[in-house]
Amino acid sequence: AHSSEVKVFVRTRPTACFAQDLIEYLPDKQTVNVRHRRESRKGVVNNQMSSWSFKLDGVMHNMSQEEVYQSVAHSVVLRALEGYNGTIMCFGQTGAGKTYTMTGATESYQQRGIIPRALQEVFYEVEQRVDHTFSVFLSFLEIYNETLVDLLASIKRGRAVQGGALTIVEDPGGGVSVKGLTLHPVHNEEEAFNLLFEGEMNRIIGEHALNKNSSRSHCIFTIHIESRSRTLSDAPYVTSKLNLVDLAGSERLSKTGSEGQVQREALYINRSLSFLEQAIIALTDRRREHVPFRQSKLTHSLKDSLGGNCNTVLVANIYGEAAQIEETLSTLRFATRMKCVRTQPSINEHIDP
Ligand code: ADP
Repeated sequence: AHSSEVKVFVRTRPTACFAQDLIEYLPDKQTVNVRHRRESRKGVVNNQMSSWSFKLDGVMHNMSQEEVYQSVAHSVVLRALEGYNGTIMCFGQTGAGKTYTMTGATESYQQRGIIPRALQEVFYEVEQRVDHTFSVFLSFLEIYNETLVDLLASIKRGRAVQGGALTIVEDPGGGVSVKGLTLHPVHNEEEAFNLLFEGEMNRIIGEHALNKNSSRSHCIFTIHIESRSRTLSDAPYVTSKLNLVDLAGSERLSKTGSEGQVQREALYINRSLSFLEQAIIALTDRRREHVPFRQSKLTHSLKDSLGGNCNTVLVANIYGEAAQIEETLSTLRFATRMKCVRTQPSINEHIDP
């Protein structure tokens, strides 16, 4: 097994008022410089400007959905077909373009995002690779206030049930799965797209029913792949998971003005994102043997897909307007901390009993 780093990209949502005096993209397409007024300890704003420089694996500015897919996802999808787990996550404040990047604009096929493009590539490759048989399954998990919800529990509209019975289980080999989560076999792109849309629809319906906002939950769309050699009947079969994760909005809510449900949601999100970060920091520290994955449903369900046996990519979505500069800074800081994580991908082989 070779070691590889978590790949971290930044993508900016296009805006007419891009803060070009504050955000600078260097021609190396890997560096972002941000200038911002430094706040003094007492919160008093003074006029001194500070600047920060962030170096990442790639900066995607004015890039099309196809270009983003090629830079971010293409190689992870090909590796998943060979039996390596993969995780692609979008992180950032609400409105920065996470869902646009992951799913795309629903009204435009041209602007479809990483999930539909990954599904297309998977089925294209399955047709090409005639020496293997492949089985592809989909699952769609939502995590809202530490509750797991199966968005495909019922593919009938409006009947997404609360996944109270869903539990995260670990197998002795270090793999993680969600007990009770439905896995749907799919045989082509069309079947897969239909399930994706059904899941999205269930997410929206559940949102209205609970009066919640989609930016307040984490969503994990997983493509499960199993492949067997057609020619070598005693060869091990290979399985992999490709997790496509749309994280909850990372913005900090001001203490005043939010109460009740909103405050509770903010608490859960802040906690799970900070546990995600803690898990990542623990993964980067070679001396740490224990990584605190079980502190939240998000890190626990991604345990086998964050560091370790996985190809992991983070897209940090930023909204490049001056009013959002604090959030942009905090998103970029999170992104650079993530870049230090090393992973050790290896093929998941199994022998038939
Ligand atoms: P988030 O999921 O982070 O809350 P969205 O993906 O919903 O944000 O994006 C907010 C709005 O901005 C949507 O209307 C989306 O279509 C638009 N948008 C975001 N990123 C882009 C982009 N790269 N190109 C065009 N429109 C975008």
